[in-house]
Formats: sequence, structure tokens, C-alpha cells
Amino acid sequence: MRKNIVAGNWKMNTTLAEGVGLAKDVNEALKGIDAKCDVVICVPFTHLASVAGVIDSKLGLGAENCADHVKGAYTGEVSAPMVASTGAKYVILGHSERRQYYGETSEILKTKVNLALAENLTPIFCIGEVLEERENGTFLDVVTKQIEEALFDLSAEEFGKLILAYEPVWAIGTGKTATAEQAEEMHAHIRGVIAGKYGQEVADNCSILYGGSCKPSNAKEIFEKPNVDGGLIGGAALDCASFMGIVTAF
Ligand code: PEP
Repeated sequence: MRKNIVAGNWKMNTTLAEGVGLAKDVNEALKGIDAKCDVVICVPFTHLASVAGVIDSKLGLGAENCADHVKGAYTGEVSAPMVASTGAKYVILGHSERRQYYGETSEILKTKVNLALAENLTPIFCIGEVLEERENGTFLDVVTKQIEEALFDLSAEEFGKLILAYEPVWAIGTGKTATAEQAEEMHAHIRGVIAGKYGQEVADNCSILYGGSCKPSNAKEIFEKPNVDGGLIGGAALDCASFMGIVTAF
């Protein structure tokens, strides 16, 4: 059966010293509780190897992106093999900030997913509609298309290795959270789309996280929904107490 997961996305925040400190704090805090979910922190590339050296196996480590090439003359890029060589096990792909600011298309993301899987990295694949699509009622179709275009060339076995994260773009970093009902409607839809392609078992085994201004005060209500299997956490993951407040919502 699918896992509950809380994953932090630190984005472009923290110096190396601050990031290592935060990772140590989360690692220590986790030791003191019986967490009912897997916990992952996705950190800047520059922090991966150092953070890997200070955390225990109970805390998962991930990158926030990887390149769409394996190696070569791509100045400034970081490949999936390079990420994996740090000890990271996860990689966020398709975050709306990557799609919006760096022009990442479904074609590019398809390549990135394949390269990540080839390194045994678990992609945390993000999907979600912008405000206009929420308001004009096309949001379910938009998300269906994002999944179909980037992921439906995968085999059922490959698809089974993914974590999905539904992140309505209008809720990311805005303080505006989707209601638990809006999240559940979309998560149930996503599970249906997966079932239609890969069958009910693959769909039932897929962890689908919610992301978008998730905080200790709203996490429990959202996580209680049957098709919500945890959260991808931005701002609140930068503070150990807030992040742990979300982890312990399970
Ligand atoms: C995110 O960027 O993945 C995210 C969910 O951010 P926030 O929690 O800050 O809205």
C-alpha cells in the first residue's frame, strides 16, 4: 500500500552552514518521535553531499532538480548521476517554478524523469494548475494533460517508482491554501487518471502529495482526506518546528 510522505522543498534558501544546521535539527527532531510518515528534505545542489553526511537513514534526502542530459558541455547544470553520487535518493521534477521561470516543458520533463529513474532516484513529480485554469474550470484537464504528456510513456513498473505532488500554482508561497475538499477532488481525479492507464493497483500504490502553503495549522485537515498521502512543503520546511508540526500531523 502507498506510503505517507512529508517532503520539504527548500528552494533557493539557506547558506551551506544554515542548511546543514537545519538538516541536523530536523534529523534530531525525527529521532525523538515515532513519525507516521516518511520524511524527506530536498535541498540545494550545493548542500547535498554535506547534508548527506549529517543525517541518518530515517531522513530522506533529495535534490530540487536535475539536468536533462547525463554529462557533457552543459555549463552550470547538475546531472542525475551527480545527484545520486551525493547519497540523495529523491529529486523534485516539474516544479511550477521550473516550468514557469526556466521553460521546462513536458518533453524536457519526460527526459529528466527517465534519467532520474536510471539512477534509482525517486522523482517527486509536480503538477498543478494556475489560477486562471482553476477559475475557468479547466483545472482537472490541465493536470490530466501534464501527467499524460510527461509520464505516460513509462511502463507500469517505472510509473510505480514515482511520487506525485499536486501543487496548485495559485497556492504556492501565497499563503492561500486549497481547501481540503479541493485537494481531495484533484487527488481522486489524479488517481483515476493513473488507474485508467496503469490499472487500479498502480493507482492505489501511488503516493500523491499536496503542496501549496501547507502549514502545521492546516496539514491535518488536508492529510485526513483519503487520497492525500502527505505534503510537499516549501516555506514551512525552512523552520524545523513548523516542518515537524506538519510531519506530526499524521
Ligand atoms: C512548493 O514550492 O513546493 C511549496 C509547496 O511551497 P509553499 O509551501 O511555500 O507554498
